Amino acid sequence: MTPSPNTRKTILAIVLCSISLLLPIGVSLQLSWTQSETSARNESFSYARDVLRRAEKTSDQMVDAVKRVHAAHLPHCSEAELTLMRDIDLDSDYVQAIGRINNNTIACSSVTGQTSVPLHDPNFVAENGLAQYLNVRITVGQWRPLNIFALNGLAVITDPELPLDVSLDERDLNIAIVTPMTNKPNIVASRGEQLDPRWVRSIPRGTERSYAVDGYLVTAIRSSRYDLMVLVAVPRQHMYRKVKQIALIFVPLGVLCGAGLIWAGMYLARARSSFDSRLKAAIRRKEFYVEYQPIVDLRTERWTGAEALVRWRQGDTIIRPDYFIPMAEDRHLIRRITELVIDRVAEDLPEILKLDPAFKVAINLSPDDLRSQDTITMLERLLAIEIVCAANLEIEATEHAFADGQETRRVMEQIRSLGITVAIDDFGIGYSSLSRLQSFRFDTLKIDKSFVDSIGTDSVTSDVVLHIIDLARLLKLSVVAEGVESEAQASQLRAYGVKLAQGWHYSRSLPLPVLLDSMRSRIED
Ligand code: C2E
Ligand code: CA
Ligand code: CA
Repeated sequence: MTPSPNTRKTILAIVLCSISLLLPIGVSLQLSWTQSETSARNESFSYARDVLRRAEKTSDQMVDAVKRVHAAHLPHCSEAELTLMRDIDLDSDYVQAIGRINNNTIACSSVTGQTSVPLHDPNFVAENGLAQYLNVRITVGQWRPLNIFALNGLAVITDPELPLDVSLDERDLNIAIVTPMTNKPNIVASRGEQLDPRWVRSIPRGTERSYAVDGYLVTAIRSSRYDLMVLVAVPRQHMYRKVKQIALIFVPLGVLCGAGLIWAGMYLARARSSFDSRLKAAIRRKEFYVEYQPIVDLRTERWTGAEALVRWRQGDTIIRPDYFIPMAEDRHLIRRITELVIDRVAEDLPEILKLDPAFKVAINLSPDDLRSQDTITMLERLLAIEIVCAANLEIEATEHAFADGQETRRVMEQIRSLGITVAIDDFGIGYSSLSRLQSFRFDTLKIDKSFVDSIGTDSVTSDVVLHIIDLARLLKLSVVAEGVESEAQASQLRAYGVKLAQGWHYSRSLPLPVLLDSMRSRIED
């Protein structure tokens, strides 16, 4: 069983409403997530850079200390060497102490003096022989574990917390300094939760990366000068919390947007259906009437015919056809308007023809009219009126009415076989196609007002008028220039060999009695 059009419309409305509501919410959540991820990443990078800068400074001071002790060539552990070591301590803020080391024992140092301190085995020995002793206590009163780096008999003692001592806005940031990078990485100092060494990825010196691993957003930055790296890890939970905060602002906004979209949709639908019912009621109440705009012989200024233009009077207001015709076409209500227009013309034409039997009235047809056999029936009814013959009628249609194929072609041919001429309206605007000019047979070409406007100006279209006139001549079509508003345009068109014109320069559209009066007075003149 196929669903009825109404069921389909309801389903479509529900789907569209749901999209209107869910889409802005989805977009706002996505935005919040991106926003929170970006801000977490930026924060992590800035902490990581800060810690790396401090770690590099510590390394600089360690290298410098070792150089100074070696350069002094003092007897090992002599009073003089211990004094030098104490001076170095004072000069460098990241180095806590310096001493001599032998067989995992500190023989002497700037803090322990000549007293030797045994150490555990090094936690790590690098390829270049640098031994690392992590979390060591060398004096009884020492309240924080220290790290010792030993090479060639000299030991530099540092406070692992110092490079990490950056002020953190976020409590759940975890930071670690990792070294060396060439072999199995080793976490030498960390803050927050212990970081998993497996999160260390090998990246080129002097670069930074960020990646997701085990529910953390990890940011890594590697020193260009030393074999060390800083890692910052933010639990993604932390970001979810932030998303929640941001979503608390964005989601209500999204709901508001969605509700706004739904409201606008309903408003438009109601406006549309109210227009439909107004138009239908107007058709029923016959609120439409026709005015005639004369078509004039440019040379003699004689009125050879007129275009029937529909008007909609609603109370005291006249609604412009520019507004309601496209809507009526869109809602497929145009045929009933065309029928009213043809009925009016049928009533008016005998009176007009009594004054001028050769007068020609042009009727506008829309795409739907050109697809319908009813149009032929209506035109035949017109022709059945005693005084009316085919030469008194012309139909006009714009190019888009000729866009479809077979049916239109058949109706057009039937119209022409009745002896009624066909004009292509508003020629030159829209999708002019030469092939259409060849495949449909026309009698008249109406040059659109916009080209007439350009006559005598230096606009790019001012030459187009000439080409259109040439084309019409080539195809043996008669030409009507539309929208002529000045004598200058009229005389130029005359010079171009155009015979007929229509426009305010000659006359606006006239109600039937006014048209008849004017025709009478012209005959008398
Ligand atoms: P259109 O067929 O191009 O009709 C010519 C329009 O140009 C008319 O506007 C006419 O009043 C206006 N016009 C004529 N001379 C001048 C001029 O010198 N200067 C200016 N500025 N305008 C001029 P209108 O009557 O408002 O009609 C607008 C459109 O509505 C028509 O354009 C036609 O496309 C459509 N229309 C009018 N009556 C009917 C009808 O009975 N059936 C159908 N299907 N469409 C119609
Ligand atoms: Ca027209
Ligand atoms: Ca026109």
